[in-house]
Amino acid sequence: MEKEIVIFGHKNPDTDSICSSIVMADLENKLGNHCIPTRIGKINKETQFVLDYLKLEAPKMIDKAEDRQEVILVDHNEATQSIDNIENAKIVKVIDHHTMNFKAPYQLYYRTEPVGCTATVLYKLYKENNIEMTREIAILCLSAIISDTLLFKSPTCTEDDVKVANALQKIANIDMQEYGLEMLKAGTDLGDFSEEELVNLDAKAFEKGDTKFVIAQVNTVSIEDVLKRQKDLESAINSEIEKRGIQLFVFAITDILNSNSEIIALGNRTDAVEKAFDVKLENNRAFLPGVVSRKKQLLPDIDKNM
Ligand code: MG
Ligand code: MG
Ligand code: MG
Repeated sequence: MEKEIVIFGHKNPDTDSICSSIVMADLENKLGNHCIPTRIGKINKETQFVLDYLKLEAPKMIDKAEDRQEVILVDHNEATQSIDNIENAKIVKVIDHHTMNFKAPYQLYYRTEPVGCTATVLYKLYKENNIEMTREIAILCLSAIISDTLLFKSPTCTEDDVKVANALQKIANIDMQEYGLEMLKAGTDLGDFSEEELVNLDAKAFEKGDTKFVIAQVNTVSIEDVLKRQKDLESAINSEIEKRGIQLFVFAITDILNSNSEIIALGNRTDAVEKAFDVKLENNRAFLPGVVSRKKQLLPDIDKNM
């Protein structure tokens, strides 16, 4: 039998990365391809809520791609966010919704749409292939959309995401507002994470020329609660800066109920943050009203000022 194709989302996986890996494997297998969902990092509490709700096991953890291993990337395309040794794997498909920073010296299937979530694209692929979705798959997709769009409140949320979520809600037969809020709240329980874990929980690395920077994000229902740990968070951030050799680390604490973020920014390029948001960092911090999206709000403005 041919070797199975391995599917995974980005490092520090979020709900979209995990759910979309499982969903994509389901679709591919139904289309007759031999695929397994995997993950390249720890399951966060929000995603665990989804898996528990469906009584599903987490996808298998892998830490490195084998040489010439066939892989499918979901919910990312940048090598810096992908599995170790990705440069020696063979990427056969990419299903994504992020800015494209990707190059391969061979042909492949690449599907990206300017929508709020990978699962929105996956729903369309089921339709296009005339494959029926089970309730379980619908709930996985719906969870991913709710997570990525913060229950449709993020500026990344598009009309397509809302339309697809409404269709999924019918298949899933659940109240998505009620389910979604419970799921998001499960992800804000940060109490038993160390500061080192917190700053890495949802951290993404970016490069602009020779400049390397990281934007990390945690969701909360109380920014104040998280800020009680500012001193220890800063030590954890500073050791990441040293370890990764980066010029800037932005840690965004996002209030999911009021749709605002407080950021802690450290490194020798915090000037890019001050310019990006026209703020003066005080005590390494700034409050950014209405900012909830790394992809649409934090990253583009910081990147422009790098
Ligand atoms: Mg993601
Ligand atoms: Mg996503
Ligand atoms: Mg996210």
